[in-house]
Amino acid sequence: MDGSSIEELELVLGAIDGFEDLAVELQTRLVGVPAISPESGGTGELAKFESFQQALSELIVLDAVERIDAHDPRAEGGVRPNLVGVWSAAPVRETIGQETFAPETPGRTLPRTFWLIAHLDVVPARQEEGWDHDPFTLARRGRQLHGRGAEDDHQGVCSILLAIKALQVLDRRPACDIGVIFVSDEETGNEFGLEFVQATRPELVSSRDVVWLPDGGTPDGAQVQVADKSLLMLRLRIHAPRARSFRPDQGVNCARVAAHLTVRLEELHRIHDRVDSLFRPSTCTFEPMHWEPVETEWGSLPDEEIFHLDCRLLPGVDHNAVVRSVRRIAREEARRWNVAIEVEIVHAEDVPPPCSLDPALTEIACRAVRRAHGVEGEAIGVGIVAFAQEMRKRGIPVIVHQRIDGMAHEVNEYCNLDNLLGDAKVLAMTLHEYLFRD
Ligand SMILES: [Zn+2]
Repeated sequence: MDGSSIEELELVLGAIDGFEDLAVELQTRLVGVPAISPESGGTGELAKFESFQQALSELIVLDAVERIDAHDPRAEGGVRPNLVGVWSAAPVRETIGQETFAPETPGRTLPRTFWLIAHLDVVPARQEEGWDHDPFTLARRGRQLHGRGAEDDHQGVCSILLAIKALQVLDRRPACDIGVIFVSDEETGNEFGLEFVQATRPELVSSRDVVWLPDGGTPDGAQVQVADKSLLMLRLRIHAPRARSFRPDQGVNCARVAAHLTVRLEELHRIHDRVDSLFRPSTCTFEPMHWEPVETEWGSLPDEEIFHLDCRLLPGVDHNAVVRSVRRIAREEARRWNVAIEVEIVHAEDVPPPCSLDPALTEIACRAVRRAHGVEGEAIGVGIVAFAQEMRKRGIPVIVHQRIDGMAHEVNEYCNLDNLLGDAKVLAMTLHEYLFRD
């Protein structure tokens, strides 16, 4: 970084240090209005959305803002509102999602839009569940801001707004569009939130963009999550004619078959042996689990065993190939023991394409984590944030990052103010180095 970039960055980070009161004000406002989906007994997000939109317009300057309402007669006002906004690279633009004419920097290809996405809805909370205060009134205790949604996902919402506000101190435009999307309905399936936005405006977020999703992380903030494994869940049922336990020679003990079968399934690690150091662990995993209760009779050998095989597959590993391997092993064991073994697919996700993130961006984010949170940032694949998984399956590069105390959905949920401000710094530093350097 040259001298002027360093000076600029100090200005941006200094601005965020000064935003502590703003963060508390914003959290007070967000916690103060419940936004709970009708499925969970709430009235939707409209009131909170309107209060939030007002706050947003007071805090940051966007070139275009659009409200995308999903129709839902069960909700207040009959809608589930979503907000899309853009701070554009070019000074004037007419509508969101069209081509921009940002000057190309030689030697690197920038995304079309760098999207920042968070959700406004929260899960229900009642004081009777054991809250030590009204969950919808913010309570500050030292560095902790207590209230429903304070961490999930107000921390993400606030870090986005504060990062943009800090960057706007510079009075410059980014090298590509920076977009924001604040959605409803994340906690109950996204149908009226991100999925609706993507269905009605498919051109908005595409594989040419990058998405930053502050809605998941670890207590030290080290993880920069960039990729997913896909889940394949199989159900295996072994059965045989029933035999008495004092004449095992006349039948088959399915518990013994199950033991041998689960050991044989270890072979899957050798057959599907791809390694990707982005992931923990770096291989596909195949775990027998969820043994179903079966009917047993005193004095009879087990004539049925049912379990599931939880397979977490690396990008590029085809689940059909894994199913074929499992079926072949099951067939061989069935023949060996003279039993029937059925293999049923319970859940199979599309195989996500390999991570398409710009490695330079990942490095920048990891450096920002070190500076803001004091830990070595580490780009990894985990595959737990559904929101991100869906987008990655469509080829959209997504980074998930937060430093959290893990209070999402908990009684007495809180957000640690230092996590919030630190996350705003990680985001602002990343955007600054990626999009504001000449
Ligand atoms: Zn969330």
